[in-house]
Amino acid sequence: MITALMLASMALGSALSHWWVLATQIILTAVMMTLQVRHARRLRSKIVAAAGRVCIHCSYTLASLPAPGVCPECGRAYPEDGYAAVWVRAWPQALGKYSNMK
Ligand SMILES: [Zn+2]
Repeated sequence: MITALMLASMALGSALSHWWVLATQIILTAVMMTLQVRHARRLRSKIVAAAGRVCIHCSYTLASLPAPGVCPECGRAYPEDGYAAVWVRAWPQALGKYSNMK
């Protein structure tokens, strides 16, 4: 979208400088990074609270469900540990200290 705006502005021969395009890109990048960090923090908290029993396909909490079973959200089978080992292996920096999750 930004590129389209920039091209449109250039095509029209706008006398305006393009500082606002760069500013918009910086702001959007900052917003996206903030949202990604917030999502990662929430997911990590959810995984820790559920002791790793969170579906790797849809992030549904499996903590109160019998294991192994089928995720009620996405319909995929989950293993007995509810993916705790998978989460720790996939995200060792964030969950490494919780490697004893069962
Ligand atoms: Zn699922």
